[in-house]
Amino acid sequence: MIKYLVKAVLAATICFSASTFAVETEAPPVKQTLFKNVMVFDGSNDKLYKADVLVKGNMIDQVSRKSIKVSDSKNTTVIDGAGRTLMPGLIEAHNHLMFPVPNTAWFNTHDMTYIAAAAAEEAKGFLMRGWTTVRDIGGPSMGLHRAVEDGRIVGPRIYASGAVVGQTSGHGDMRGYVDPHPNMVEYTHPFFDQFSFIADGPAEVQRAVRENLRRGAVHIKVMAGGGVSSEFDPIYTVQYSAEEFRAATEAAADYGTYVAVHAYTDESIFRAINNGVKVIEHGQLMTEKSAKLMAEKDIWVGTNCQVLNLSAEALSFLTPDQMAKWRLIKDGLDNQMKLIKKYNLKASLGSDIFGSSANFLDSRKELSCRKEWFTSAEIAKQATSINGEMLALTGVRNPYPKGPIGVIQKGAYADLLIVEGNPLKDVSILEDYEKNMKIIMKDGVIYKNSL
Ligand SMILES: [Zn+2]
Repeated sequence: MIKYLVKAVLAATICFSASTFAVETEAPPVKQTLFKNVMVFDGSNDKLYKADVLVKGNMIDQVSRKSIKVSDSKNTTVIDGAGRTLMPGLIEAHNHLMFPVPNTAWFNTHDMTYIAAAAAEEAKGFLMRGWTTVRDIGGPSMGLHRAVEDGRIVGPRIYASGAVVGQTSGHGDMRGYVDPHPNMVEYTHPFFDQFSFIADGPAEVQRAVRENLRRGAVHIKVMAGGGVSSEFDPIYTVQYSAEEFRAATEAAADYGTYVAVHAYTDESIFRAINNGVKVIEHGQLMTEKSAKLMAEKDIWVGTNCQVLNLSAEALSFLTPDQMAKWRLIKDGLDNQMKLIKKYNLKASLGSDIFGSSANFLDSRKELSCRKEWFTSAEIAKQATSINGEMLALTGVRNPYPKGPIGVIQKGAYADLLIVEGNPLKDVSILEDYEKNMKIIMKDGVIYKNSL
């Protein structure tokens, strides 16, 4: 409004230089969408309820159990859901959009334009399957986020972490056995400038974190223990000292945000939490000890199931050593999920699946994968309001600060789906996106309408 008032004042000044009158011109009308005849899953409630929902611009303006009447019918699109479910867009809380290739060997044969083009296509795939937000937790997706926001490509909201930060010989150190160390000799490789910062000692860790923040990261990913896809770090290894963790968590906190770590074991989890880390990603080998500490300190655990359910074909790029590590993690999953239930831990939902189009497509099965431990209603809440709450840990760095995401309430971002069936009864209906996702709206814009 102020912009238009200023324009009007300027115009008035030019025409009548002595005039003190400001003529207020009309701002362009705000586009509205009214959803009627829908059963609402609002992201938090265990039951569907009948309500009308009005979207104004890119935000939810009204949710009412009574019929909503709009005054500006000319600029309102009315959508009759015919009794279908209206719910928040899905949120993927652990993904790597910038890894559309299966392993780091590909970074020697495919340049950044190939990687970026493939990542853009995969980002679009997420949105068109109803996943309106992706938390990217390892990879230089800041440019991808920007291209979506600039309207150059179609994709979900992206929360980018930038390069992972890890120690020499840690999970981020994806060098081949004879490759030189990027910090020890004159050696540059795009992988170690964009995807993974190898940093040892507090000073290098601070520099790596600050470099990510400078490039636009909204949260920071640190490697705190052994991993499956790296070759030289057994799962039991504890990565980073207390001082190095504090260097990372303080540098992130100085920018108003938090550090999430890759960790499986109690030893890694304890050292990370005791030095300021807020989110433990994976954590499948945690025991009661870690569960108690997480409950006491209000720490999030980023859970993944489908990555431990992949086909032999999808896992074919792993060496026998890496396969043994994968099996070890898989064996811990049941115990972890039971601990999460027992201690009522804050648990987000993310697939951690990447590497090919077929793999990204499989990431949606994260929903049904966890039915063994959670009800459909619990899973549906994890993928919407609970994941949304976790994303808000980005604080002042939150790229979408105007309201919450993952919920249907007044003042929330208008990321909405109309689906066939009731996801609170059977969450796996959301995986058959071609058949069951009738409407996909992100930021008030409809990307699919097959009603
Ligand atoms: Zn991951």
